[in-house]
Amino acid sequence: PGRYAHLNAFVNTVDADSINARVATAVNSSPTSNVDARSPHGRLIAIKDNICTADTPTTAASGILKKFISPYDATVVRQVREAGAIVVGKTNMDEFGMGSHNIHSHFGRTKYEQKDGDRSAGGSSGGSAVAVATGQCWAALGTDTGGSVRLPAAYTGTIGFKPSYGLLSRWGVIAYANSLDTVGILGNNMDSVEGLFDVTNEYDHQDPTSLDSSTRSQLLTEGPAPSKSLRIGVPMDYNISTLDPTVRKAWLRSLRLLQERGHSLHKVQLPATQHALSAYYVLAPAEASSNLAKYDGIRYGSRAEGKDGTADSVLFAKTRGEGFGPEVQRRILLGAFSLSAQAIDNYFIQAQKVRRLVQQDFDKAFANPNPLLNSQAEVNVNGVDVLLCPTAPTLAPRLSEIQNQKPLQAYMNDVFTVPASLAGLPAISVPVQEDDNAVDAERSEAAGMQIIGQYGDDKLVLDLAKQLL
Ligand code: GLN
Repeated sequence: PGRYAHLNAFVNTVDADSINARVATAVNSSPTSNVDARSPHGRLIAIKDNICTADTPTTAASGILKKFISPYDATVVRQVREAGAIVVGKTNMDEFGMGSHNIHSHFGRTKYEQKDGDRSAGGSSGGSAVAVATGQCWAALGTDTGGSVRLPAAYTGTIGFKPSYGLLSRWGVIAYANSLDTVGILGNNMDSVEGLFDVTNEYDHQDPTSLDSSTRSQLLTEGPAPSKSLRIGVPMDYNISTLDPTVRKAWLRSLRLLQERGHSLHKVQLPATQHALSAYYVLAPAEASSNLAKYDGIRYGSRAEGKDGTADSVLFAKTRGEGFGPEVQRRILLGAFSLSAQAIDNYFIQAQKVRRLVQQDFDKAFANPNPLLNSQAEVNVNGVDVLLCPTAPTLAPRLSEIQNQKPLQAYMNDVFTVPASLAGLPAISVPVQEDDNAVDAERSEAAGMQIIGQYGDDKLVLDLAKQLL
């Protein structure tokens, strides 16, 4: 806080005296020299403000939840606290997770300062990314529904990991689109990312979509031996004409680095990818319109001042009109429309079909069969172990470029992140320099590269990420 307050990365912080006291206790109970580099013990952790904490408000950066204090900690918060981590505060975000630049927050945008001016911090976990990038915490929890951990990581030069859907508990995480929502981790190095994953990757009976223990036991528990040569898939459908030259250079460089380490490269076609973004922007708002129905100032949320509800409006029209920002209102309208009797066949049902095609594309590409579909299936010998592609088509855009953008242009930033979300796959974004002269920062810029694995191959994805850093 203090020195970084103007960045607005935090919506609420725990008071400094209490943080200092907890740090002192942690240091006394276990001197840092005894603590493993991966252990969250005594480390400062920031939590995205749509994840419930009992000691600070949880607002999801929405006006309607500005006074909400959860009576309990989310499971992931309990897990990091039990591992000895110190939660320092709640990070800024796009309201309810809806956005790609962290500009749609009731508390104002998160600032991502660069030498040449302000840029987008990425969204929706922009606060978590800036908190990590500026060293205000060791690591942060975010959420990733369609890219909200990976995109901010790519824009801020940090690491952002979205585990397979169902591995990390969603209990106590404010729902945006349940079938896509995952908790993710942001860090400056792989130790912190893996350290937080170690303590949160656990079955939770309170989350009905938490992957059960017997299926977990069939997943890879270890990464491959460091010497193993992997088959790396290069999805040609991601090589779009509008790819920023720096991003393309960083992509080529990462492929070369992996080849030099003994891995082989293989072209892969994922034809349904071109429809993934449209499908996502039908499905996510549809689920959101249903999830957000409970914020009416009666069941959840603050009521608007004065009288709400007149002869011709419902009891919560004013409350919802004032409580939700414009992007959230747009999504609710979009979602309610695509679920309506006149539109469901043409929009919602079609989008579900596209989602299935996207999943099938991935299953065809990977060597390992999807353990959720058929754990007895044969390994596809022509398949690949992981896919490597950019996280986003461009580097972090300047704030001046995005201020007057149409919503559709903001949605385009998610084109490379939503396919893995639709399929529930593990994916990580790591910063890769465009050329070997990383020391000469004037000449070399980093772009976020994304490694996507088959469902449950989270350790493999993490392991390969280490080879790119
Ligand atoms: N930008 C995407 C959206 O607005 C992704 C959000 C997310 O992953 N929470 O839906």
